[in-house]
Amino acid sequence: MSILGATGSIGQSTLDVAARHPERYEVFAVSGASQVEKLLAIAAQFEPRYIVLLEESKAQWLRDALNQKALNCEVLVGEQALIDIAVAPEVDTVMAAIVGAAGMPATLAAAKAGKRVLLANKETLVLAGQLFMDAVKHSGAQLLPIDSEHNAIFQSLPVQFREHPYQSSFEQAGIEKLLLTASGGPFRTRALDDLASITPAEAVKHPNWSMGRKISVDSASLMNKGLEVIEAHWLFNAPIDLIDVVVHPQSVIHSMVQYRDGSVIAQLGSPDMRTPIAYGMAYPERIQAGVKPLDLFSIARLDFEAPDLVRFPCLALAYKAIRQGGVAPAVLNAANEVAVDSFLNGKIKFTQIPELIESCLSVQYDLSALNLEELLLADSQARAYANSQVANWSVGVAC
Ligand code: NAD
Ligand code: MG
Repeated sequence: MSILGATGSIGQSTLDVAARHPERYEVFAVSGASQVEKLLAIAAQFEPRYIVLLEESKAQWLRDALNQKALNCEVLVGEQALIDIAVAPEVDTVMAAIVGAAGMPATLAAAKAGKRVLLANKETLVLAGQLFMDAVKHSGAQLLPIDSEHNAIFQSLPVQFREHPYQSSFEQAGIEKLLLTASGGPFRTRALDDLASITPAEAVKHPNWSMGRKISVDSASLMNKGLEVIEAHWLFNAPIDLIDVVVHPQSVIHSMVQYRDGSVIAQLGSPDMRTPIAYGMAYPERIQAGVKPLDLFSIARLDFEAPDLVRFPCLALAYKAIRQGGVAPAVLNAANEVAVDSFLNGKIKFTQIPELIESCLSVQYDLSALNLEELLLADSQARAYANSQVANWSVGVAC
């Protein structure tokens, strides 16, 4: 395996599962943006052939530290190196667990190279859904969704449909709806007047899941669910109008498929990403993931609510962007990345996240075609516009 984003929350859970099955999995390469100590620990435990970093200065520190411990890993630097470890002939499986659009080029390269792609990096599909799915179809890559909701839907779909969603339609498979569950995040019941004063520390504290900072803020704003609607659209060839969001605060049902005959098939489990990761790693087998069994008696009840689009405008913005098509989802994603970063750095308020995204989506982008170059141009234009808006707004924000 190559693990892109090995130092992150998904990357660490992947390594945890791999360590439980040393006879099945060999870690060929790992990457991380900056956490060199974590990479050193990974090197000592898994002895990967390659470690990829983003900056030469960190790479030199790591090379010295590896030398001192007589560990024989080669340290590479930069985006091309990420692509190289994703497509290397020795690699069968690529865990795509970099956060944000930065993960797209290597994830796309893994798909083009026909790998088994374990897809956690949902931003790849939001930014370049059509291109990515085309690459999967043409190369024969095996795509396994790791995002818990999409993994649950995958498990709840008929085998034929889940493996070849582009060869039949929902109508032919008897599928009426995908029901994407959402915990509602930490602010589901917070007074509306308080939302503007939410701090980054509060926003990254998810009630059920332990995750990276960006996805935690996305979960708090419900943009995560918006990105996941777009992700489900591409992964399962699902018409947007047939994807519903169901707020389910306990995060026990990870999502559901509703069929024509009245059946609703769901996947349940403890909120622990090692379950979908192990499922993807071993598919179609089932392996130990270290996850504690679900105790239905202590859970006792499961609740469901409709999403509150006034409280959480980001979800509606995501539906709007995917309906608009073209470069709009790429703009949505880029604007959101800038917004989350600005919020985490105290430059904008929590309630300005959707405002910033909406203002970026309202700009007329002079692009309608969807090749990689144009998508990346839309991405960088949206980031530039969003950053200029933040610079204007920040003047009035007290941090
Ligand atoms: P994280 O912040 O914990 O880890 C991100 C990883 O990406 C780290 O290894 C980091 O070093 C690397 N990285 C960051 N910026 C980079 C850059 N510019 N170039 C290269 N590498 C970079 O994030 P996470 O929570 O593990 O999430 C990773 C992806 O998985 C995200 O797309 C997220 O939406 C998705 N996901 C996460 C969870 C979860 O439970 N954490 C669940 C579902 C989906
Ligand atoms: Mg999810």
